[in-house]
Amino acid sequence: MVEVRSASCAYGDFLAVDGVSLTVPRGGIHALLGTNGAGKTTLLETIQGFRRPESGEIRVFGADPWRRRSDVAGRTGTMLQESGLVDEMTVSDQLSLWKGVSVREDQVERVLDLVGLAHRRKVPVAVLSGGERRRLDFAMALWGDPELVVLDEPTTGLDPQSRRTMWSIIRDLNDRGTTVLLTTHYLDEAQNLADSVTILDRGRTAVEGSMSEVLAAIPARITFDTPATSMALSGLWGLVAGEVAQTPIGASTHDSERHGWSITIHTPELQDDVAAVIDWARANDLRLGQFRCAPASLEEVFFEMPSLITGKAER
Ligand code: ATP
Repeated sequence: MVEVRSASCAYGDFLAVDGVSLTVPRGGIHALLGTNGAGKTTLLETIQGFRRPESGEIRVFGADPWRRRSDVAGRTGTMLQESGLVDEMTVSDQLSLWKGVSVREDQVERVLDLVGLAHRRKVPVAVLSGGERRRLDFAMALWGDPELVVLDEPTTGLDPQSRRTMWSIIRDLNDRGTTVLLTTHYLDEAQNLADSVTILDRGRTAVEGSMSEVLAAIPARITFDTPATSMALSGLWGLVAGEVAQTPIGASTHDSERHGWSITIHTPELQDDVAAVIDWARANDLRLGQFRCAPASLEEVFFEMPSLITGKAER
C-alpha cells in the first residue's frame, strides 16, 4: 500500500532523509522509529504528498502522492503531532465541522463510538483531558473509514492507561482491515503494535524488516539464580549455544559457593538453550530461582543500533 524506494528529502543543502526504502503491505502496521531529528516527520510528509522527494520513488495506493495528492488524501486519514482542535467548540461540533471539510462521508456518532468518546460529545474541547484530545484527533483521522491511517506520535504525553486504550483502538481498526503507518518514541508501543519496523538514524535506514526479524537480530536472554557449585556450573557451559555470564550472589565473592550464582545467557538459540538449562538443572538436582527467558526487546535493538550500523558498513 505504501512503497518508498531510495527516497531522499532535503531542506536546502541539508539531507534530512537519505536513500530510505520501506514497504507497508495492505493490512499491516508499520512503525517508523528514530531519535529526534532522524527524519521521520519529513518522510511521513513526503509519503502524504506534502513535499516532493529530491530523488527516489514513492507510491501510495500505487500512485505518486506528490502528483496525485488529493487522490491519496481522499483515502488516507492523518493524525499530526500538533492538533488543530478548536477549544470553544463541543466535541460533537468539532466533528461536524470536520464533516464539512473532509471528502469522506461519515457519522459523528460512529467515529465517537470508535474512539470511546461518545459520552463526551457535548463538552467543550477545552475541558478534554490530554488523552481525550488525542482520541478526538484520532476520530478525525478515522473519519470516513480511510484505507490507510498515518499517525505521527499518536500517544506522546499520554498516561499508561490512555496509551493502552489508544493501542486497542488502533488494533481494532487494523483488525477491520485498515493499514497503519505510525511514528513513536515509545519502543514498547512499536513492539506491541507493529508487524514491521524501520529505524532511521540521521536520515538513513539503520534497521528495517518484520518485527520478528528485527528482534531476532539481537540474541535472546535467559536469566536465573542457582545454588550450583562452580564445578556443576562449568558443566553448563558446554551444553548451551549462548554465552554464559555468572556473577556471585551475596555480599562478596567469598559467599558464592554458599549463596550461589546469578546467571545470564545471551543466546541465538532460545528454545534449545532453555531445554539445555532445564535438563542440566534436573541432572544436578538444582532449583533455579528468578528463571526468565525472553527474546530481545525492541529497546535492546535500538540501543544496539550503532553496532548494527557498523556491522552493515563492514559487510
Ligand atoms: P522528532 O522525533 O523530533 O519529531 P523527526 O525524526 O520527525 O524528529 P524531522 O522533523 O523529519 O525529524 O527532521 C529531520 C531533520 O530535518 C532535523 O534535523 C530537522 O532539524 C530538519 N528540518 C525539519 N524541518 C525543517 C525545515 N523546515 N527546514 C530546515 N530543516 C528542517
